Amino acid sequence: MERRLDIAVIGAGVAGLAAGMRLARTRHRVTLFERFPESRPVGSGLMLQPTGLAALARLGLRAEIEALGARIDRLHGVTDRGAQVFDLGYDGLAPGLHAVAVHRAALHGVLWRGFAASGAGLETGRSIAGIETLADGRAALRDTEGLMTPGFDLVLDATGATSGLRAGACDRQARPFAYGAVWASVPDIGLAPGMLAQRYVAARVMLGWLPVGSAVPGGPPLAAFFWSLKPDGHAAWAAGFEPWREAVTRLWPEMAPVVGAMPGPEALVLARYMHFTARRPFRGPLALLGDAAHATSPQLGQGANSTLLDAMALSDALEEAPDIAAALTAYAAARRAHVRFYQMASALMTPFFQSDSGMLSVLRDLVFDRLKILPPLRREMVRTLAGLKTGLFSSATPERLADPFGRGG
Ligand SMILES: Cc1cc2nc3c(=O)[nH]c(=O)nc-3n(C[C@H](O)[C@H](O)[C@H](O)COP(=O)(O)OP(=O)(O)OC[C@H]3O[C@@H](n4cnc5c(N)ncnc54)[C@H](O)[C@@H]3O)c2cc1C
Repeated sequence: MERRLDIAVIGAGVAGLAAGMRLARTRHRVTLFERFPESRPVGSGLMLQPTGLAALARLGLRAEIEALGARIDRLHGVTDRGAQVFDLGYDGLAPGLHAVAVHRAALHGVLWRGFAASGAGLETGRSIAGIETLADGRAALRDTEGLMTPGFDLVLDATGATSGLRAGACDRQARPFAYGAVWASVPDIGLAPGMLAQRYVAARVMLGWLPVGSAVPGGPPLAAFFWSLKPDGHAAWAAGFEPWREAVTRLWPEMAPVVGAMPGPEALVLARYMHFTARRPFRGPLALLGDAAHATSPQLGQGANSTLLDAMALSDALEEAPDIAAALTAYAAARRAHVRFYQMASALMTPFFQSDSGMLSVLRDLVFDRLKILPPLRREMVRTLAGLKTGLFSSATPERLADPFGRGG
């Protein structure tokens, strides 16, 4: 489509910044609406898989993010009884294949700079409460102050896992997971270089450590620390902070200086996890992308990566298709198999690591690590980890997933 569209993007997270930047660079008139007075990142660290890195390469931002992040080659998890649950290296699939863990502020900063240079407009401090269809078929936004925007040809809901706007495209409800986690960014004291390391007690306890590099250029190396927690148990956990510190140290003695340096429970932030998959991520002029379209627990570490793939698919679909309706159909089709696989896999896998089920954790400890003895199964496990699966028996390269219409560039 050669037309220059008026596009509203709601939410300045990974999805909104990536899609907004790419659409503005293409030629469209983009306005991004963000509820906070300043666009800011939330949370601690996350893993950029080969898929997310391929999308960032197409945005011209891969080198910048790699310079800040920490290379991750391996995933390693053991129980309190010393049983290995998994030990998977990306190089089991292809030599040199790896992930990059980043501090959220680093990813946000890189995307933000790309967005700011793209020519897109930005309206901060605008919390969007509703979307109204105008007589000419365009859509206008209403904010929580009751102010209306002019009409847009296309509206992108990139407001994340708790989107209150997605109901305009999909009638499904999001479902909370029983467990969330408390997270903190801490100095990286070199506990597990090059890996995401986890310790488990059944599926009730999960303690994790991920080196994430620096939040800003030249900043000190940091790590993400996380501990599984039921959100409704947060107050009890905070009240028992001292015994909790001891429990962490018993489970992973080298963590003693990390938890010892935490002044109190306020050093950690509670994250809740939701599961939601839109059956069809668009209706009329409204399209969903990122967590607004498909949210889940971060067990498989794919959310931000899938979000970046959405942004690439949506902006390319608008170039390929003759009109907006055809573009949104093509966007949904291009993302369907990948999104379905990871939403299903995440819903299936999460209870093995975050639940009260004794049976699932016993099964996990008996089976998971043994599966990799069979080379084809091991390959599928690494493909899953790397974000490459499009079905139980199918996968694609990171480059293909980040460029589903083969447009290049
Ligand atoms: C603890 C945790 C760990 C994670 N680890 C990983 C990982 O290792 N790898 C990975 O790939 N993913 C991970 N994820 C998932 C990843 O963070 C998300 O998939 C990703 O951030 C989704 O991006 P988004 O832009 O869709 O939403 P968000 O990042 O949530 O951004 C939404 C934006 O919309 C704004 N907004 C919301 N409502 C409104 C409104 N009404 N009006 C205007 N603005 C609004 C918000 O302020 C925000 O800026 C993790 C998530 C969590 C919680």
